[in-house]
Parts: sequence; C-alpha cells; structure tokens
Amino acid sequence: MIIVKTPEEIELMRESALIVSKTLGMLASEVKPGVTTLYLDKLAEDFIRDHGAVPGFLGLYDFPNSLCMSPNAQVVHGIPNATPLVEGDIISIDCGAFKNNYHGDHAYTFEVGEVTPEVKKLLEVTKQSLYIGIKEFKVGNRVGDVGYAIQKFTEAHGYGVVRELVGHGLGQKMHEDPEMPNYGRRGRGKKFVEGMVVAIEPMTNMGTKRINQLKDGWTILTADGKPSAHFEHDVAIVNGKPELLSTFKYIYDALGIESDEEDEFHQKEIQL
Ligand code: MG
Ligand code: MG
Repeated sequence: MIIVKTPEEIELMRESALIVSKTLGMLASEVKPGVTTLYLDKLAEDFIRDHGAVPGFLGLYDFPNSLCMSPNAQVVHGIPNATPLVEGDIISIDCGAFKNNYHGDHAYTFEVGEVTPEVKKLLEVTKQSLYIGIKEFKVGNRVGDVGYAIQKFTEAHGYGVVRELVGHGLGQKMHEDPEMPNYGRRGRGKKFVEGMVVAIEPMTNMGTKRINQLKDGWTILTADGKPSAHFEHDVAIVNGKPELLSTFKYIYDALGIESDEEDEFHQKEIQL
C-alpha cells in the first residue's frame, strides 16, 4: 500500500533528508587514501546524533553499522571495516537518518584521490541516470516510466543495471511501497500521485548486471569484479512535479564542485 504524505509530513521528511545530505557533505572532506570505512562510519554516527537524529540503518534488519560502505566492485550493503581506502578506489556511501518519525536515505559514490577516466565516466553516467529517472517521477506517470528511462540511458553506455535491488517508497518506514526498479517498461506499474515520496537509486555496474552476495549476508558485489556505482536521492511529488528532499550541494560545497544539476528539482531554495 502506498502511503501518501501531507505537505507537513514532507517538510519533516526534508529535515531527515537534509541531515543525511549534511552527513555526506561532512564525509566528502574525510574520504581520502589511508582512511578506513569504520572511521568514517563513526564520524557519521556522531554527526547524525549531534543533529538530533538516529542512524537509520543501524540495527535495521540487524545491519551492524550506521553507513553502508561499498568500495569498488561492491554494489551496495557493504559493512564498514578496518581496511584503509587507497588512491584510485571508489566508495559508495549510503546513509540513513531517522528524525521526527521519518527516514532520510540517500547515497553518493565518492572518488578516493585520482580515479581512472573509465571509472569517472561510470560515476558520471550513473548520477546522470538518477536525474533522468527523477524527471519521470511526476503525477500521471508510472513506476515503469522511471525504470525505463534509467535503464535506456544506462544500457546505451554499455553498463549493467542491477535487477535484484531497487529503490522504494520512503516515510515512517525505510522501505515502503512502491518498489522503484531501475529498469522497466513505459506506462507499467503503480501510478504516481501528489504527496508520494520515494528513494530513487540507480545501482550501475561497469560490466555485467549480475551480482553475488558475500557470506556475511550483506555485501552485494558484481559477478565480474568490475566496479559499480550508486547514487540515491529522496524525492517527493509536490505541485505534480518531482521535488528533491535531499541534496548533493553539501558534497559539492566541500569538494569545490560547481553544479546546477539539481536546480530544476528544488521548488524551494536550499540554504547551505
Ligand atoms: Mg540508501
Ligand atoms: Mg534506499
């Protein structure tokens, strides 16, 4: 069942999403060669708690940490550990914060030092596919329209679209209806209505779309060992149109990146 949110609830969800956005912005300055994902996890947990929220993933389905940390060939759900990041790695950081009874949940794949042009392109295309999907999240469209748009764009670059893991509705529960696959057929699936809130999250593999799971019961990695990227935003339908509740602007601010990619999806100015 899809749980539609009131404008007041959407503002509460924006608060949760912005705590995640700020956490990722804080981490952006900390991601570098030599740093461990366990250290970053601790920083994030303290930061989230200092902002009056609790880490959304900690204990969720018994997940042991606050961040999902998935380097290189790991797709999602990697567990933080004591292995230092090295120059040329990528690290997908998925973060959740729970405040006022609502979840924020979004993700960004960071470069560790200098990465190869091939990897840079994978990140760029995955992030672009996220916005291409978000554009389709509007009144009158359906779940399949978002998935179709993401899949078409991604596969045109020769990349693999992961099938087993999908985006989702978001609210008082981390995972609500509907499921939001990154593949699909136009005009198929549940219809979007005003007040829906979802997490759209393309998971894109440089090679095969096939994945495996580690024996830890969590970590998902590519079957061919090639890198994978993950970008996720929280989006509401406001005035019939997609409205971003999360933002990468804190990350860009920390990294000195100029970007207007989100501007068309913010009906309200984000005050950094
Ligand atoms: Mg997430
Ligand atoms: Mg999610």
